[in-house]
Amino acid sequence: MLAFFLAAISVSATFEGGALRSHEWLSPTHLVATIPGQSDQDNRNHQPSWFYFSLSGVRGQTLTIDLAGFEGEYNYRPHDGRGHRNTRPAFSYNNKDWQHFAEAEWLESPSRLRLRFTAREDTIWIARIPPYTLQHVDQLLARVRRHPHAQVREIGRSVEKRPLHLVTITDPAAPAAPKKHVWIVARQHAWEAGTSWALEGAINLLLTDTPEARRLRATHVFSLVPTLDPDGLVHGGVRFNRHGYDLNRNWDVRDPTKMPEIAALEPVLCSKSNKIDLFIDLHNTESADFLQGPLTAGGPAIRSLGDRLNRHLVQHANFNAAAGVRDYPAETPAKGRYSIDHWVFKQTAAPAFLLELMVDTNPRIGRPPHTNDRLAFGAELIRAIAAAL
Ligand SMILES: [Zn+2]
Repeated sequence: MLAFFLAAISVSATFEGGALRSHEWLSPTHLVATIPGQSDQDNRNHQPSWFYFSLSGVRGQTLTIDLAGFEGEYNYRPHDGRGHRNTRPAFSYNNKDWQHFAEAEWLESPSRLRLRFTAREDTIWIARIPPYTLQHVDQLLARVRRHPHAQVREIGRSVEKRPLHLVTITDPAAPAAPKKHVWIVARQHAWEAGTSWALEGAINLLLTDTPEARRLRATHVFSLVPTLDPDGLVHGGVRFNRHGYDLNRNWDVRDPTKMPEIAALEPVLCSKSNKIDLFIDLHNTESADFLQGPLTAGGPAIRSLGDRLNRHLVQHANFNAAAGVRDYPAETPAKGRYSIDHWVFKQTAAPAFLLELMVDTNPRIGRPPHTNDRLAFGAELIRAIAAAL
């Protein structure tokens, strides 16, 4: 008797950070994979920026995958998903080393992103950008804890009671008085894994045993928040905490039940005893690198600090922001719309900047940034900060 085996392809997103709403095979080699996205507490601002799933049983097969579900809403403005048309997803054959698809085809009505490839291995992982899950954060923290000039402190817990960590790096033996205090917050938004790779690059530089790193630790205190949404990193979230709140809005709303993450960090950050020389909040955006801060509201000293930072990053990193630093909008944010950097400036008058890093093709490198580009950027960001302050 002849037995015919048609190897089935299995699709999975049931792993840390995984995100896929549903999938449907149009033919044995043509899959429609729908992105779940995430909406806020009022079921608004649906953001489809994260997907992460695997296909097994694919070695040697030429597959077509149509990604669907890009439609959404941003800052209360609906969109048809076209802002995602330049997406070049990342893929990996070991869930560790990632590269981006060289090509993807954008289809309209409905919005879909079509990938075509021949799989080299049995399992392929596909994600919006190279993932950085809570396991990565925990490995980084374990490394940080072993360094004599670094401390990890729990400042509170998330909605699902995961610890929120603050990393402090400084040489405790160096004189305290002239040290500059720098804050960097990453990953308020779970999909923005690129900012975690950048923060890891910054931490890698700060923990090395070189004259440069020793000097940085002797002259600065670096307060670093690896993520404010550990729950989102586990669940494959996009932009909102488990109760649906945007952790980079709502800084003027103190609600420890709905937003324990903001309630944990706000008093540490904005206390009178916390003198801040520079605050930077890291985010990812689809298509633009930029630094934004209170240039008009903050006066000439903040404007020139921002200019120095921007110039250094344009000259020494692939920061595609030659047009210079963006100013804040003149109007005061509505209730519940304060971002962390805007709030820090309002409460402390410190130079507080938003730093956005694009995930689509960066014209200066001709492709989406890789994890190595992010790691290098993070180190250069520390050098830019030290040079600018
Ligand atoms: Zn963000």
